[in-house]
Amino acid sequence: MTNITDKIAQLIRPQIRALKAYHVPDATNMVKLDAMENPYPWPQPLIDAWLERLRDTKLNRYPDPAPQALKERLCNSMDALPNSAILLGNGSDELIQMIALAVAGPGRVILAPEPSFTMYRMIAIATGMEYVAVALAPDFSLDLPAMLAAITQHQPAVVFLAYPNNPTGNLFEREAVRAIIKASPGLVVVDEAYHVFAGQSFMAELHEHANLLILRTLSKMGLAGLRLGMLFGNTLWLDEIDKARLPYNINVLTQVSVDFALSHPDVLNAQAHQIRADREHLVAQLSRYTEFTVYPSAANFILFRVPHGRATDIFDRLKLAGVLIKNMHNAGGLLQDCLRVTVGTPDENNAFLNALKKIL
Ligand SMILES: *Cc1c(COP(=O)(O)O)cnc(C)c1O
Repeated sequence: MTNITDKIAQLIRPQIRALKAYHVPDATNMVKLDAMENPYPWPQPLIDAWLERLRDTKLNRYPDPAPQALKERLCNSMDALPNSAILLGNGSDELIQMIALAVAGPGRVILAPEPSFTMYRMIAIATGMEYVAVALAPDFSLDLPAMLAAITQHQPAVVFLAYPNNPTGNLFEREAVRAIIKASPGLVVVDEAYHVFAGQSFMAELHEHANLLILRTLSKMGLAGLRLGMLFGNTLWLDEIDKARLPYNINVLTQVSVDFALSHPDVLNAQAHQIRADREHLVAQLSRYTEFTVYPSAANFILFRVPHGRATDIFDRLKLAGVLIKNMHNAGGLLQDCLRVTVGTPDENNAFLNALKKIL
């Protein structure tokens, strides 16, 4: 019998062995405010109509590999420019992976600010690329001189900019983003996962920059379980990236369900509207703790800094009280002493605030 540990050391790349698998904590029976999900289910009549639509879905057949009608519906609902090309992914995570697979090679670099979305690093490493992280300024704005210097030095194949940024919640300055797009020798992907909460986008500028791609997802809007991400950009780019896609990446249930959901836009729009209003309430309530620094958010979550050394204790006590948020402290750097809470229903937000009040 071969010793598996020895074989792993031989076979699995050191970069992969050094990674930690993306950890999703158990949230059974908890108030779940850790993952930027929309907390609202659909009204029962809508659920019934959806189930009726699913009745005719043919599970014995492969899904349509290039669902044209669905793509057009998505382009409309995302305010894509006329004749925009679109590529679909099993979540935007898969599109990030497809982009990386399409450019990966020895010495190829993915660059992003730090802190930002952890999958940029994970996917860069998993696809054998180098990952360069450039620290944000202490107020979480882009450090433009540092970004431009790093772009000159590393000539990244792809720069990822989350707009608004996760986990900080802020929108970068548009002029700084434009400067990065102009200075980049490679692709710049503006990741607009939270666009419904931000009211700001680079979509209208897509045709002005030949190296710009825009990433969107239905996850944070309220369809996280379906896994559907979208990439917008010039057809010439998307045709190449499409070659890194597995043929049937969007399953039949997702295709039917997304089509159904988009034919009832008022429901998701009303939920986003509610979440934006509740975000302001939550920011106001958290800001009453003078010992906290509460960062402005254009997303459906709020990052806040607690007194030095207290983050893990507050996080653990909230968890004991049945409220799961996200402890960012262990990421270190600018996220030291930081916690991140997703905006839930008013009841969930109050459960969080009440638990917090008891702890402090
Ligand atoms: C959540 C998130 C994603 C991933 O979205 P999926 O479509 O669910 O894979 C991508 N980018 C950012 C910045 C996110 O916060």
